[in-house]
Amino acid sequence: MRAARLHEYTHDMANGLSIDEVDAPQIASDGDVIVEVEGAGWCQTDNHIIEGMWTEYVDQDLPLTLGHENAGTVVETGAEVDVVSEGDQVICHPVQACGTCRPCRQGETMYCENDAFNGLTTDGGFADQLLTSERAVVPLPDGVDPADIAPHADAGITAYHAAKRAVDGVNPGDTAVVIGVGGLGHIGLQCLDAMCAADIVAVDLKQSACDLAADLGAHYTIDPESEDVASVIEDITDGAGAAQVLDFVGADETTALAPDICAAGGDHQIIGYGGHIHEPAQALVNGEFAYQGNIVGRYTELQELVALVERDAVSLHTTRYDLDEVNTVARKLEAREIDGRAVITP
Ligand SMILES: [Zn+2]
Ligand SMILES: [Zn+2]
Repeated sequence: MRAARLHEYTHDMANGLSIDEVDAPQIASDGDVIVEVEGAGWCQTDNHIIEGMWTEYVDQDLPLTLGHENAGTVVETGAEVDVVSEGDQVICHPVQACGTCRPCRQGETMYCENDAFNGLTTDGGFADQLLTSERAVVPLPDGVDPADIAPHADAGITAYHAAKRAVDGVNPGDTAVVIGVGGLGHIGLQCLDAMCAADIVAVDLKQSACDLAADLGAHYTIDPESEDVASVIEDITDGAGAAQVLDFVGADETTALAPDICAAGGDHQIIGYGGHIHEPAQALVNGEFAYQGNIVGRYTELQELVALVERDAVSLHTTRYDLDEVNTVARKLEAREIDGRAVITP
């Protein structure tokens, strides 16, 4: 079968992956599931993996097939699989949790001590077939096209996970701020809108992103190039600040907004990454706000997100590309030429 693989870390996105002919995956244990990939979302994290940014955090053996946002049709199952059978359409959580370690038993599948992560620590879905497990697949509702929903496997649940956490900290009438209305941000905004009664403020440099945010339920939009974000939020909230900030950019400039825009006791949720946090400790003491990191979401959160999709509460803006266009997609994303989400269709 064909697989888009990383052989060497590089900053040259136009030549990051090569399309190789490799052996198709085989069932190795009783809980394994093999999926014919129909959609695999391309993520900013794929660019970061190609650059070698994850080597400090996880073990990676190259060559590695990338692709962690996968959906498709089950073609083969291990002897003890009964959640799905051949022919079922599924979305694949990127983490195959073990199910027996303490975090797994607490339901914290993202903290699993023995996990395999498609496209990050084990082969992913930029290929004709994907090896995953019964613990990672969520059956799709009728009428949902796997290629349309694939990015929810990571982009979607990461945004959902942060939004669900934020919803705990906003009461009706409070203000929530979404910084960056791109691939993840436009999902997070819809999740917030579906789950709480806060005033939603969207911040983005691109006019098209602000327009999309307004269409998806934002009550206010701010262009940080022409407006001072902190003073606009101060006006909107009568000086109280935002109870929750969802930062889908995670740059130095956006994390630096927290002391000025977070309400007392609020949270600045970090979802995007690449920058650093350099705020005075005194600002955190005075405002008692917190920075909170967010990594993907649990298996059960993927089930919840699929339920929101089934209720038409969350729509995904996607563009499809062939497997042999992976490097074009990587280069375009680097140049910010992709609106919404690119989906590879092997
Ligand atoms: Zn991703
Ligand atoms: Zn585990």
